[in-house]
Amino acid sequence: MRPRAAALGLLAALCGVGLLGATRPPGLGDVTDVRHWSYKGYTRVVVQLSRPSASAVKRLPANAAAGRPERLFVDLPGIWVGRRYEKPIPVGDGLLRGVRLGQNTLRTTRLVLDLERYQDHRMLLLRGPDRVVIDVFGRERRKREPGDSQLPLEVRGVQTVVLDPGHGGKDPGAIGYGGVQEKHITLDLARRLRPRLERLGLRVAMTRGEDRTLSLEERTAIAAGAGGDLFVSLHANAARRRSARGIETYYLDTSNERQSLRVAARENGVSPREFDQLDRTLVRLQLAENSRYSRLLAGLVHRSMLRGVGQRYRGVVDLGVKKGPFYVLFLSSMPSVLLETGFVTNRDEARRLRNPRYLDALAETIALGLAEYRSRVDTQVARRNR
Ligand SMILES: [Zn+2]
Repeated sequence: MRPRAAALGLLAALCGVGLLGATRPPGLGDVTDVRHWSYKGYTRVVVQLSRPSASAVKRLPANAAAGRPERLFVDLPGIWVGRRYEKPIPVGDGLLRGVRLGQNTLRTTRLVLDLERYQDHRMLLLRGPDRVVIDVFGRERRKREPGDSQLPLEVRGVQTVVLDPGHGGKDPGAIGYGGVQEKHITLDLARRLRPRLERLGLRVAMTRGEDRTLSLEERTAIAAGAGGDLFVSLHANAARRRSARGIETYYLDTSNERQSLRVAARENGVSPREFDQLDRTLVRLQLAENSRYSRLLAGLVHRSMLRGVGQRYRGVVDLGVKKGPFYVLFLSSMPSVLLETGFVTNRDEARRLRNPRYLDALAETIALGLAEYRSRVDTQVARRNR
């Protein structure tokens, strides 16, 4: 399955006339882009805005008399769209008929998703740039239960690993000792990890293979498009306290541990203050289905890193397996973990993370952890198919 990404951007911005010919009130934000991706079982719509805005998603039943299908809508107060998206953006993937945006009142834009099938939806607000992400799930999706897992995983086992080198391009990530940039470390590590996984017979997809800017939803779209069975986001940590050091591994949860929230805010690209607000939105949302597998994956990779690197290097501190509200994990639809491989703000660890020998050792141990995970899952698949 390939995601159909349609950039429908500013090209349609031809018409300056607003609601009923009214002129645009001052002080409003704009819709700067609308994109959608179709996956097996769900469709993702991303509306980019020049400032944050959104309200609750509401659902309307079909209206046969008016020829209207069942639909979802979200009002975007303080946003002006005028008649730019007057013509619906067709999707037609069996789940969404199309996307419409209109000037509902002089100061509010309404986003409407015309549905073909519907079971469930979720919304997430992202910053930098501001965007509203809505995932719409179709009916064939199984009812979610706590600890439930994705069907393809059970059937296929683990074949494709998606490596996500954190940050890149305009986003350097954490900047540490001697000016080292996290984005270079994560890419270097991914390049060393890739051939090791391939030697284990795994297919590897990377969200980026060079130094380029990539949004969270692009990362997860690449992962889903590659048919990934698991998603590994690579990062390096930072702290004000220069002595802070060690390795920690995260899987998705809405835990509000202070320390996890700080790391999550940084990796989500928002300030801790902004994140506190956004986090409340996230807490209300249902967790990904894959948390049982993500927890297993996190535990195995973490133990392997600690054991392997700890044997060869001094002072490798175990900061543990933790839960955190990471958007990149939330947006991905497969078992997912985020590795904080060391602190760039610590002198020793910054040096190590630039050292090819250390990165090779780290890559080796991550690969071993993933291999262990694969064999555990394969055993379960075999047992189920027996
Ligand atoms: Zn990072």
